[in-house]
This record gives sequence, C-alpha cells and structure tokens, in this order.
Amino acid sequence: MNRVHNFSAGPAVLPTEVLEKAQNELTEYKDKGRSIMEMSHRSDEYEAIDQQAKDRLKSLLGLGDAFKVMFLQGGASSQFMMIPFNFLSEGQTADYIDTGRWSNKAIKEANIFGTVHRPFSSSDTGYDRVPTNDQLQLSEDAAYVHYTSNNTVAGTQFHDIPETNGVPLVCDASSDILAKPMDLSNFGLIYAGAQKNMGPAGVTVVIIRKDFMAKANTEDVPTILQYKTHGKKIFNTPPVFNVYMVNLVLEWMQKKGGLDYFKQYNEKKAALLYDEIDKDDFYQGIVEKDSRSIMNATFELQNDDLNEKFLNEAENNNLYTIKGHRSVGGFRVSMYNACPRESVEKLVGFMQDFRSQNY
Ligand code: PMP
Repeated sequence: MNRVHNFSAGPAVLPTEVLEKAQNELTEYKDKGRSIMEMSHRSDEYEAIDQQAKDRLKSLLGLGDAFKVMFLQGGASSQFMMIPFNFLSEGQTADYIDTGRWSNKAIKEANIFGTVHRPFSSSDTGYDRVPTNDQLQLSEDAAYVHYTSNNTVAGTQFHDIPETNGVPLVCDASSDILAKPMDLSNFGLIYAGAQKNMGPAGVTVVIIRKDFMAKANTEDVPTILQYKTHGKKIFNTPPVFNVYMVNLVLEWMQKKGGLDYFKQYNEKKAALLYDEIDKDDFYQGIVEKDSRSIMNATFELQNDDLNEKFLNEAENNNLYTIKGHRSVGGFRVSMYNACPRESVEKLVGFMQDFRSQNY
C-alpha cells in the first residue's frame, strides 16, 4: 500500500484506521451474512448506526436535547435552497455574510425566496478576509443570519462566532465542522457536507435547534424539503453506507480525544505551514493573516513561473492535490482532521528544499 500525502479540499483524506475497519466489515457486517449496504434502512442494525452517529455528533459538539441531527442528501448545496424555502418568505429579510464563493451561492438561492441583506462582503478584495463583529451591519429584523464558518476556496475562517443580537445563526460549516469546539447555543441551524471532516461524499449533516425548526414554513414546501419531515423520523432511504462511514469517523474522533484534541492538532499543523510561508517572500500567503484558516491554507510563489515545477516536484514527493482553486490560483493545502501531521511536516520539508534550490 502506498497512500499518498493527500491535501485534497474534498472529498478529502479519511483516517486509514477507518478505511481498514470498513474494509473488514465490507462483505459482512457483524455476523449478519451481508453488508450494511444490503440491509433495510429500517433494520435494527442500521437504526442503531444512525442513532449512534447522531449521539456521537451531539456528544462531540456538546449538544443537548434542544437540537436535532439529520442526515440528508443533495450536498451542502441543497441546503442553500432548503434553508430559505423553510425560513424565508416573501417580504422577509435574511442577512447573509458574504465571504466567498460558497456564501455567494447561498445568497443566489436565498434571493429566490425573499430579500437578502449583506451585513458584510469581502468580494471587492477577492474574499481575502472575514469580518470582525464591529464590521457587521446587520439589518433590523432578519429572519436569520447566515455565514460560512470556513471558506474552503479562499482559505479564510471565522475565529469568532458572529454576534447577532439574538437573531438565530445559520451556518455552513462544511469545511470546519468538528475541527475545534464551538459554542452552538446561538445557532438555529448548522450544516455541512460530510466529505471534508466527517466521511465520504453523499451525506449532508444538518443540526437544527428544535425551537427554530418549529418556526419553519410548511405551506407550499414539498414534503421532502421540509425540515419538519426529517425531524420526525428517517423519512426516506438514507445513504446508509455514508452514514455508517460517518459513524466510524466520529468513533475515531472520540477515541483520539474529541474536539479539544483536534483543535490543538489542527492549529499545530496550520502553524507549521504558515510559519514556512511567512519565512520570507519566496512563498506568500493570499489572505489577511487574521482571517487565515486552519483547514485550508492558500499561498502563492513570488515567482509564478515556478508554479508548474513546484506542483510536479511535489507529486514526485508523494504530496498530492495542492493546486489552488481556479478562481484563486496559487496553491491550497487542505489539512482537515484526518490529515496527519506527518503529511504537513513532509510538505514543509519539501517547501524548504524547493526554496533553497530555486531562490
Ligand atoms: N459550502 C462549502 C463551504 C464548501 O466547501 C462546499 C464544497 N466544497 C459546499 C458548500 C458545497 O458542498 P456540496 O458539494 O456538498 O454541495
């Protein structure tokens, strides 16, 4: 086996232990003579997995009974539509903090349903920053305030939760859910595609406060698009194997020491890389330092004639998927929970060698 150092932005590297456990159980789950993919989603075995994954997620995030967890399909992108469909009617306003490509896509969908106000936008400066609380110009009576906690493409991250004066927060946490402890008491809804920090692509985690869900529209909203439908029970066939994988990743996270452990681990990895970028002008960070993400680091070479050489030599060193998003250019290194520190150390070692050979 030759697993590469994988810095993919998503679908992203999974813990090898988790893949091996899944491999062991692939053809036969717990002496049942069939795999988890071949059983009813109403079977005792699957219902136990679904419940365990929900309980683990709540336990890791320190959430009590006020919240409901759902495993939905359609990716985080479907949530861009489902949130306003449920919570934003004509004549109502929702605040959407605009910090990147994905915030922008969420705004486009919300515009179909109601009025969108942007309390802050960094689009004029190439999405190089997230706001501080005093930069937010919130509207008077928003139905909710939406933000993207980690901007996967630009490489920025909120380090503080936006202050909204009691208006429920709705958060796209696709690329930093479970990366660190987070106080979710002011959140109405938090959602994330699993494919970065939680498992394979194909399942979307939605965590919703029950009293926020109670305010959802049901009139003229198709049944499958109502949160209330999914709040009652498993509505239709879920992506069973994906939920099973998420459960294994959450088990692995609990064994490692939970979110305090991952906060430290992730901050350490990010510091290793950013220290290297900041050493001199050979490498240059793309976003404002205060807004830098511990999950996705973006940088460029001062001499961009070296870009292709850098990528080729990185791959020759088993360092994969560090090309920046086409809208930003340069390089992007994604270091989610399952990205081992050794991978980042190997990359930093390579960057040092590349600098000394090409200065
Ligand atoms: N939001 C963020 C922050 C993302 O990074 C992504 C995917 N890269 C999405 C939403 C869209 O997710 P999906 O492809 O699961 O719809």
